Amino acid sequence: MNITGTMVYYYFICERKLWYFVNAINMEQNSELVSIGKILDETSYKREKHSILIDDTINIDFVRNGAILHEVKKTKSIEEAGIWQLKYYMYYLEQRGVKNISAKIDFPLLRESKEIVLTQDDRNVLENVIKNINDIINTEKIPKTMNSKICKKCAYYDLCYV
Ligand code: SF4
Repeated sequence: MNITGTMVYYYFICERKLWYFVNAINMEQNSELVSIGKILDETSYKREKHSILIDDTINIDFVRNGAILHEVKKTKSIEEAGIWQLKYYMYYLEQRGVKNISAKIDFPLLRESKEIVLTQDDRNVLENVIKNINDIINTEKIPKTMNSKICKKCAYYDLCYV
């Protein structure tokens, strides 16, 4: 299975959520937050090229001037996961021979952007993350629940706690 940007994003939010996702247990269509995200995706930055899918693996929200990757997020609450998703895109493209990639994460509702840089330490982290994601893909054992405040907003809440 190819490691997608969504998998990296979920990995940094919750390993259990990632396990549900890779096992095709999908509750996201029921989530109001995800619906808001999709509407935002479709209506923000209309003049740019949207949702570029590369190798059926990474989905970049849009590319401005051919060189800057942008990822659109609705809030900063799970900012770290969004940043790692974007770093994974940079890493992936680098592995495919693309050099000097720059990237920004955009929060249109907050009218803010943040530059993202891929360091050697990040590359090492991502190599480990890819290995861990492969382990999660290949295990039948579901990871533990997180008991975190983000669970209350998660589409899988009922499945985990009710
Ligand atoms: S409800 Fe919590 S533990 Fe369950 S998948 Fe979502 S974030 Fe993970």
